[in-house]
Amino acid sequence: TFGRARRIAAIEVSEILRIGALAAQRRREGRPVIVLGAGEPDFETPDHIKEAAIRAIRTGQTHYTVLDGTGELKVAIQGKFRRENGIQYALDEITAGAGAKQVMYNAFMATLDPGDEVILAAPYWTSYADMVVIAGGQPVVVPCTEANGFRLQAPDLEAAITPRTRWLLLNSPSNPSGAAYGEQQLRPILDVLRRHPHVWLLSDDIYEHLLYDGAAFVTAAQLEPELKERTLTVNGVSKSYAMTGWRLGYGAGPKALIAAMAVVQSQSTSNPCSISQAAAVAALNGPQDLVAQWRDVFQRRRDFVVERLNAIEGISCRRPEGAFYTFASCAGLIGRRTATGAVIDSDSAFCRYLLESHDVAVVPGSCFGLGPYFRISYAASDADLRQACERIAAACSSLA
Ligand code: PLP
Repeated sequence: TFGRARRIAAIEVSEILRIGALAAQRRREGRPVIVLGAGEPDFETPDHIKEAAIRAIRTGQTHYTVLDGTGELKVAIQGKFRRENGIQYALDEITAGAGAKQVMYNAFMATLDPGDEVILAAPYWTSYADMVVIAGGQPVVVPCTEANGFRLQAPDLEAAITPRTRWLLLNSPSNPSGAAYGEQQLRPILDVLRRHPHVWLLSDDIYEHLLYDGAAFVTAAQLEPELKERTLTVNGVSKSYAMTGWRLGYGAGPKALIAAMAVVQSQSTSNPCSISQAAAVAALNGPQDLVAQWRDVFQRRRDFVVERLNAIEGISCRRPEGAFYTFASCAGLIGRRTATGAVIDSDSAFCRYLLESHDVAVVPGSCFGLGPYFRISYAASDADLRQACERIAAACSSLA
């Protein structure tokens, strides 16, 4: 009989995937399901990036490359950090992999021994916890409150740190809450870290360019140069340039960490796709005007969804600063009954009801470690968003 390795025994296929599968099945049955679960922009990769990839194929850039990124790509990444974040990294402090996800996975595999702790602020992107577990570490979840803007508070961080703490993971703007840390909110966190020199910081900046209302993006290594020596700054082209399928992410940090991460990558995937690397060079060095245009579109959609949700009795939705998600509370609906008599006793029950009775697929907050909330991805068309909000309103008003 088949037995799973212990390192993945406790990890289940996520509820997000289950909801996706259920939505797909209902669609096949002919139901007009609207799925607001996507973690990717609904835009096309820009033409100049596609052209660079086609050129790379034509000119024979189809072989193995340097393990963790071509020289050209590393120079482009170096330029990005200098230009956009005001951080200077040497080329051997930079690594590229098959998505930001692989870069983080490499980091955990390269640094965690059994029982080492990684602090996550809930709600958090589910993959962090599972990656930590696969790498033998122990996720330590610190809940954040809506009243605090879903942002980690310095005293809570301080209380969660133990001698076994290896990393703090910060993600701003955040999946799933859309919350972002400005300088004022980040400073107290970094002050705590300065007092605990054994704790490293992983800053997941993947949604950097999706920050609204003119807010300025800040990242730890820029704000606190003293921490740069124990910070891994992670980013990628997936969300900024609508390149999720190309699988290209990168990270920058101390040379010894980057070298250890290369060991992990060398015995798993080797270099990220050579063609995707050429495309990423074009993305990072090329015109950036589309990024700003998309940001405006997303901001408009955010405003629309937040306004519609807040008009529904029983739902309240904080206006997120960034990313393309809303994280709304359904606390006001808990305890109500559906037409068939079922009790909405949790955010999962609410999301199931939305899908089964009103054909809208959204993700329960409990998937991200914090209920009773639900996440909407507004990386969807205006028409779908409008109709989905109407259906959610109808679903809520038919609860008794
Ligand atoms: N970090 C967060 C918070 C994400 O939501 C995602 C994708 O959903 C990633 C990282 C992964 O990005 P990539 O496509 O570069 O692996």
